[in-house]
Amino acid sequence: MALSTTSINGQKVRFGVGLRNEICAELAELGSNKALILSTPQQVDMAMELATTVGDRAAGVFTRATMHTPVGVTEEAVEHALSVKADSIVSIGGGSTIGLGKAIALRTSLPQIAIPTTYAGSEATPILGQTEDGIKTTLTDPKVLPRVILYDPELVASLPPAMTVTSALNALAHAAEALYAKDRTDQSTELAIDGLRAFAEGLPTVVESPGDLKAREETQRGAWACGTVLGLVGMALHHKLCHTLGGSFNLPHAETHAVILPHAIAYNAAGVPDLLAPVSDILGGSEPGQVLWDFSKSMGAPMALKDIGLSEADLDRATEIALKNPYWNPQPVTADGLRALLQNAWAGNAPSV
Ligand code: NAD
Repeated sequence: MALSTTSINGQKVRFGVGLRNEICAELAELGSNKALILSTPQQVDMAMELATTVGDRAAGVFTRATMHTPVGVTEEAVEHALSVKADSIVSIGGGSTIGLGKAIALRTSLPQIAIPTTYAGSEATPILGQTEDGIKTTLTDPKVLPRVILYDPELVASLPPAMTVTSALNALAHAAEALYAKDRTDQSTELAIDGLRAFAEGLPTVVESPGDLKAREETQRGAWACGTVLGLVGMALHHKLCHTLGGSFNLPHAETHAVILPHAIAYNAAGVPDLLAPVSDILGGSEPGQVLWDFSKSMGAPMALKDIGLSEADLDRATEIALKNPYWNPQPVTADGLRALLQNAWAGNAPSV
C-alpha cells in the first residue's frame, strides 16, 4: 500500500532520514511557538539535541517519561507544561514517552508531534494506557492522537539490537491479532499484511546491519502500519495476556510481547487457521505459531517468561487474573488451555498446536 503523508486516521505522517531536523517547519505549521519536548531519562541526549534544533520555539524539556505512564508523573508534566505556557508537545522516544505526551494532551488538549524511536506504534493510535495505584487502565480518545508523526530512521538505528527485535515483535503482535479481529475490515487486513511484510523483509537486515537506514525505514513503515491497525480494530488473547503479565507481574513490555506472541497465535490458529494464513505465507512455513516462534528465535528474541522475570509459582495466579475479565477471542479461552500456554511460554518451549 502506498503511504501518503496524510494517514487514514487524519494524522500527518512522514518518513525520511534526518526528518527530525524539520521539526521547526512542523511546529510553524501547527502555529506553535512554545513546544515542550518530552523524553525518558535514558534519552535525555536525544531530547537536548532536538531542543537545540527547535531553538527559540522550545518552551523546555521534560525528561521523566516512565513505562506505563504513571499518573503522578503526568500530573507533574502537566504542571510543568502550564508553568512554561507550552502550546504544543513534542515526544521523542518510544511508547513510554509518547504515552506521556498523550496523557498531557488528554488533560490540556495541546497538539502533539511524535518522533518515534521504537517500533511499538503508540504514535499511530488514539489509545492511552495509564497507571494509578498499580492498576493500568486503557482509554481511547481522539484527543490523544498526535497530529504529526516524523519517522526518522536514524533514530531507530540507535536502538540496541535486543530492543530492536522485541520492539518489532511487539509491532507484529498488533498485525497478527488484527488478522482475526472481530471488527476487522479489508483495509485493516491489508494494513496488517503490509506491516507483517515490512518486518519480515526489513528486520533480518537491521539485525544484521543495525545502521542500514533503508531497512530501518522499511521497519518504521511496518511500525506505522502495525500501530495504525492497533488503533482501528480490537485486540484479543495475546494483548490481554501481555496486559496481565505487564500490569500484575511487572514484566517488561516489548519482551513480554515477544515471548507470548507465538503461543497466543498458535492457540488461536487452532480456531481460525485461514485468517492467520498470511503469517505463514509471509514468514514462510505452515503453522503460524511455530513460524513466529522460529522467526523470533532466528532474530535472537527472548523465548521464555522465566528469562524475563516470571517465576513458575506465578503461573496459576497469572492464569486466574487473565481469566477474570472475559473478552472476545476467536477461540474459547479456557483455564486449562491458558495454563498450558503459559507453562510452555514460561519454559521457552515451542508452542503446542
Ligand atoms: P519505551 O518507550 O519504554 O522504551 C524502552 C527503553 O528504551 C527506554 O529506556 C527508552 O528510553 C529506551 N529507548 C527507546 N528508544 C531508544 C533508542 N532509539 N535508542 C536507545 N534507547 C531507546 O518502550 P516501548 O516498548 O516503545 O513502549 C512501551 C510502552 O508503550 C508501554 O507502556 C506500552 O503499554 C506503551 N504502548 C502503548 C501503545 C498505545 O497505542 N497506547 C502502543 C504500544 C505500546
